[in-house]
Amino acid sequence: MEKQDIKIGLPRALLYYRYRVLWRVFFQELGMETVVSPPTDRDILERGTALAIDEACLSLKIYLGHVAALAGQCDYILVPRVSNFGRHRSMCTRFESTPDLVRSVFRGPGQKFLSYEVDEEMKKKDEQDAFLEMGRTLGCSAKAAKRAYKTAKRAELAHHKERVQRYEQQYKKEGMKVLIAAHSYVAEDPFMGRTVSDYLKRVGVIPLRADMVDREAALKRSRELSPTCKWEVSREILGGVAMHKNDVDGIILLSAFPCGPDAMVNELIARRVKGVPMLNLVLDSQSGTAGVETRLESFIDIIRFKEGKL
Ligand code: SF4
Repeated sequence: MEKQDIKIGLPRALLYYRYRVLWRVFFQELGMETVVSPPTDRDILERGTALAIDEACLSLKIYLGHVAALAGQCDYILVPRVSNFGRHRSMCTRFESTPDLVRSVFRGPGQKFLSYEVDEEMKKKDEQDAFLEMGRTLGCSAKAAKRAYKTAKRAELAHHKERVQRYEQQYKKEGMKVLIAAHSYVAEDPFMGRTVSDYLKRVGVIPLRADMVDREAALKRSRELSPTCKWEVSREILGGVAMHKNDVDGIILLSAFPCGPDAMVNELIARRVKGVPMLNLVLDSQSGTAGVETRLESFIDIIRFKEGKL
């Protein structure tokens, strides 16, 4: 198969929200086409829920729904394994097991899956090694894959920096500001966190994101709240909270049910960050928008009352 004929499917869930630019540019640079599953809707959620075990977190159920939406639509579906970026820099174990899980759920001759593995701690494989290996699997030379990875990484970092700068501007604006502490795939998914930020905007509150910060700086600042947390993304969120807790009127701890890392980290934030109104919002497949909005409405009223504006 010619490279330009290869179509790679990207499920719009989980790590897509962190790596979408990296993935899209990498495959584009190699002359391949990418196709992204549509935004989460009720059908995707129900398909994913039917494929997952009951104990799976809502984010994983949604992910399986996106894989199902792409099955049969592309040559490969990208399902990476991202274990860690070194010692004490782990990802949630779900990201270690997703390729095996997906291959088992979607077994059968039809759909092919493409993966790469990042495990700096045990296997000494960093992200660049992983992408070069993936390039080889697709029949590309090491030189072409390396060039594509470098271009894609630059684009990803520039994109994140630009988003962080946009959020920085928001902190300078007048008006009530609420910091949302959540994984990007929870914060941005239309069936999860997007309902929260949309509601806040509708009632005139500025929603901000704890993960929209310089990642290296956030990892350092995270130690103020927890010197031992080992989950990379949770540490970025902790760092974001430490950096901005005094710049906002309230904090929403937003997670998908049932999430092990968030259960621990959100409890830790609630215990260690004092003096800022906080709402712990755990979303599951049954949480309707009405229930979420009622809780948000009371939270905003509490902030207004505390600030003498009610
Ligand atoms: S961090 Fe939580 S929400 Fe994310 S994949 Fe792991 S268990 Fe699911």
